[in-house]
Amino acid sequence: MQITKPEKFYDLVVVGGGMVGASFCCALEEALGDKPLSILVIEAIPPNANLAKQSSFDARSTALSFGTRKFFEGIDLWKMLGEAVSAIHEIQVSDRGRLGSVEINADEQNVEALGYVVENKLLGQVLNAKLNESKKISLLCPALVSSVKAIEKGMQLRLTHGDLETNVGASLVVLADGGKSPVCEQLGIARSIERYDQHALIANIVFEKSHQHVAFERFTDTGPLAVLPLPSIEGKNRGSLVWTLSVEQADQYRELSEAELLPLLQERFGYKLGKILEIGETFVYPLSLSIAKEQVRPGLALLGNVAHTLHPVAGQGLNLALRDARALVDVLISARERGLGVGEMNVLLEYVAGQEADQAITTQFTHNITKLFSSNNEAKVWLRKFGLVALELLPNVRRSLAERAMGLVKSKS
Ligand SMILES: Cc1cc2nc3c(=O)[nH]c(=O)nc-3n(C[C@H](O)[C@H](O)[C@H](O)COP(=O)(O)OP(=O)(O)OC[C@H]3O[C@@H](n4cnc5c(N)ncnc54)[C@H](O)[C@@H]3O)c2cc1C
Repeated sequence: MQITKPEKFYDLVVVGGGMVGASFCCALEEALGDKPLSILVIEAIPPNANLAKQSSFDARSTALSFGTRKFFEGIDLWKMLGEAVSAIHEIQVSDRGRLGSVEINADEQNVEALGYVVENKLLGQVLNAKLNESKKISLLCPALVSSVKAIEKGMQLRLTHGDLETNVGASLVVLADGGKSPVCEQLGIARSIERYDQHALIANIVFEKSHQHVAFERFTDTGPLAVLPLPSIEGKNRGSLVWTLSVEQADQYRELSEAELLPLLQERFGYKLGKILEIGETFVYPLSLSIAKEQVRPGLALLGNVAHTLHPVAGQGLNLALRDARALVDVLISARERGLGVGEMNVLLEYVAGQEADQAITTQFTHNITKLFSSNNEAKVWLRKFGLVALELLPNVRRSLAERAMGLVKSKS
């Protein structure tokens, strides 16, 4: 429910009602059932703000793993997404200008779909509707948290809401405020950052032919180029483009008109979906691997991009964050059943211990793929060629790659 004035103290305050913060709250509410827990979500950007201002529910689309589908089904959100979701039945991976390509398909993996694609703004509408109709979760939006500090009973947040500046206390603060988090900086939580010197240019594309539920991942000399299937609208065959470019190229391409950009994209992507008919508004995202050096403190847990921001090449960032969210929900529920406080450090360390292997493996997997497929180094080109051929020839290797991409691998610590 939307509120206009916060209470003085909550059991849990979530900073950031983006994809991760909102999903975490909905999962926690579901798991709590009738058990009491006071929850406040503080979100800076109102849902009707223009897309360029939104950091979570912007013009991007997100590939959701099979595991994420199960997560959303568990909180009754999947059916609300309905027709907004497009299934991926096949993934075609290829290396532009070189031999070697591989197809991973749902039939071979014995699943209904390898994954699903949803536009962030539609996912945002559904998550927002869930938060608004919730009886347990209070939503304060627009409101900006400027600082968080440790106090005796947990954490104290300083926030601005309209003309008002106020303090709110919490036993536990879940920081889900994205990869740029000034709050994290103010708390003195250091990050390890590796910049890829790449930007992702994203846009919605209209093709001559239907995608037939195939996702394309093409590796080019500037980096990977992905086209994900989107539901068609008014008979238009739509796909979502994530085009990794050097920083200079991205700066140059974002200034081009649709007519200028179209042949460049057609040349890179080829004619698998026929002619490109339209390119929607383009947006550019700098890409880096950024990991917080602490994920928990007494009364504090980091979730989503603030904890780990990954390259989008393998579509793992949100999917991993939702596995973290599920794990944190389970630990908090179990803590309450055992009479422990939700902000206690041993409770939060239990969460970290449960997720660290999954986080490490997913991060490394994404990083290795990014490095391998963004290079013209002859050795890497050979490894790539060999890798694609091996994947084509060895069904077991293909299966394990598909399982990781589908989010079905739960790494054990
Ligand atoms: C081009 C691209 C494509 C991607 N594709 C995929 C994909 O296919 N599959 C996948 O799994 N992942 C993908 N990702 C990753 C995915 O987008 C991120 O994992 C996800 O956005 C993280 O969400 P978040 O809620 O942690 O952070 P954000 O999306 O940044 O949300 C943070 C929220 O916090 C709010 N906020 C910030 N500061 C404050 C404050 N001080 N007070 C109050 N509110 C605040 C913001 O307004 C925002 O709503 C992609 C990323 C990129 C860049």
